[in-house]
Amino acid sequence: MADDDSQTKVRPDSEGQPGIASAALFGLCPRCGARTLFDGVARFAPRCRACALDFSAFNVGDGPAAFLTLVIGALITILAVWLQVAWEPPFWVHVVLWVPLTTLAVIWGLRAGKSALLAIEYQRSAGEGRQADPPQEP
Ligand SMILES: [Zn+2]
Repeated sequence: MADDDSQTKVRPDSEGQPGIASAALFGLCPRCGARTLFDGVARFAPRCRACALDFSAFNVGDGPAAFLTLVIGALITILAVWLQVAWEPPFWVHVVLWVPLTTLAVIWGLRAGKSALLAIEYQRSAGEGRQADPPQEP
């Protein structure tokens, strides 16, 4: 793999920060690594309670929700059809099985997706309405 940092500018002060995977799985602040990212089930806290990083400055948009709807909907549908064809269970089995499973998958997936996007935005210094710094003259 080429070691080209010109396109993917990473913050120089990234030492000691959580990786994207661990930030996504555990809802960690991308700057200090504390578990302070969420205020509700899938709602960001306004700022980090440990290092005061302003989470409201990041905008992860609806990307995770749209992607999750497609992926989780397809998976649950495939599993439900497979279960019906294989064992032909009564209808209540589908309700008891798929409603909680879908709810948990959406909540967990939304937290993980939003955390990952926020961590990536932080690490890449991404944001809305800004342009990259012009190249420095030697
Ligand atoms: Zn923090």
